[in-house]
Amino acid sequence: MTHPQTTDPGPAVAELDTIVSLAKRRGFVYPSSEIYGGINAVWDYGPLGVELKNNVKRAWWRAMVQERDDIVGLDAGILMHPQVWVTSGHVGSFSDPLVECQTDHRRFRLDELPGGENLSATDLRDPGIVERLGLKCPVDGGPLSAPRQFNLMFKTHMGPIEEDSNAVYLRPETAQGSYVNFKNVQQSSRKKLPFGIAQIGKSFRNEISPGNFVFRMREFEQMEMQYFVRPDEAARIFEEWLPRRLDWYTRYGVNPERLRFREHAPDELAHYAKKAIDVEYRFPFGWKELEGIHNRGDFDLSRHQAESGENLEYFDPATEEHFVPFIVETAGGPDRSAFTFLIDSYREEEVRGEKRVVLGLNADLAPYKVAVLPLLKKRPEIVEIAHRLRDDIARDTMAVYDDTAAIGKLYRRQDEIGTPWCVCIDVESLEDGAATIRDRDSMTQERLPIEGIKRAILDKLSAARG
Ligand code: ATP
Repeated sequence: MTHPQTTDPGPAVAELDTIVSLAKRRGFVYPSSEIYGGINAVWDYGPLGVELKNNVKRAWWRAMVQERDDIVGLDAGILMHPQVWVTSGHVGSFSDPLVECQTDHRRFRLDELPGGENLSATDLRDPGIVERLGLKCPVDGGPLSAPRQFNLMFKTHMGPIEEDSNAVYLRPETAQGSYVNFKNVQQSSRKKLPFGIAQIGKSFRNEISPGNFVFRMREFEQMEMQYFVRPDEAARIFEEWLPRRLDWYTRYGVNPERLRFREHAPDELAHYAKKAIDVEYRFPFGWKELEGIHNRGDFDLSRHQAESGENLEYFDPATEEHFVPFIVETAGGPDRSAFTFLIDSYREEEVRGEKRVVLGLNADLAPYKVAVLPLLKKRPEIVEIAHRLRDDIARDTMAVYDDTAAIGKLYRRQDEIGTPWCVCIDVESLEDGAATIRDRDSMTQERLPIEGIKRAILDKLSAARG
């Protein structure tokens, strides 16, 4: 198992702004509703961002569903029976400690205030904490209120009448959809314990202090997997998921020095958790959760069984026992993961006296796998070969054609968005039917017959998946 980092390796990129401006300029991420001044904590994925995020989701699905015969997928609704959120404890306690400045009425999450970052969970619930520590508004220095618990769920109404009896919530996590479908999935897929249910989908949280770009949004996506196990195996299986989940990030190129595990202190554990360990990444704004791995015990299924009246026990044919399974959960998200892959792959180099910006993304994650570039856009024969090659490759994977600048500049543009290979069609191609493939990282070039280029690219791509 990879050991937790004890020293600080520093972030891959010193300034978050470097990534934010690259993301906007090149079409990865834009502020939502920007022409109206934006809306706080919602971001839109542009042409390259949607490719990157889809690739992240596919890579997760491959590792968690496709490559395993003990995990199946599910896509549950965002809206659920409101009782689900009462039973799960979200209506009662899915909240963060909120403090308000008495003079400018700005609101802050207590554990994100300067001076509040290292408070224990017990301190965060202490009504006298603001006074005791002398905390002040970080904007105007005004006095702050005592903390109160602010529920993070978005509420809306189902049907044409807006009254409390038809209030529903936008789900704040995908996990509950897997719990309430436990019986359906187990019986229809005939899975025996241990087995898992994986989901990717939107979740919503009315975060008090969102920020740090797509790290903390109010509308985001999650990639969560619920693994149902025998109670006596939960502790061991929990430990097994730790290296597996950390290794998924390194398999896709994250530097292991910027990853670590952090165990939740007993007073920090969520109401459902027996044990929780986060995979943390060294973001430019500090070590933060990338994914949480939780041993949830039998809390979820026992509660849903008690409140719904449905029997959610499992019958183990091997031991002839009936019991409520324990759940080991891995809870991450494609937004935070894509953000991490962007940051960690960013590098600036000097090449022949010029700055070269490279996104060294794993080829499987890169938005475009290949760019096909004509050396001379005024030669129709060259342009035609380039288009034909792009169209052929595009049947199997993402490929782009570009002729809007000189070749050197075209290469740099592709480097900056992480395209692993560029194919240049030149004058010689007309004679020898061959073209050059340039590698993003080594910048070396190799000449291959045009008819073999697609196969070569697809082989490189499958090698990159590992
Ligand atoms: P935090 O402590 O950062 O608020 P959390 O412990 O509440 O996070 P979980 O409930 O464990 O987070 O959520 C699982 C995963 O969902 C997170 O690891 C993250 O990848 C993603 N996620 C949660 N909240 C957000 C958000 N507001 N914006 C983007 N991704 C999120």
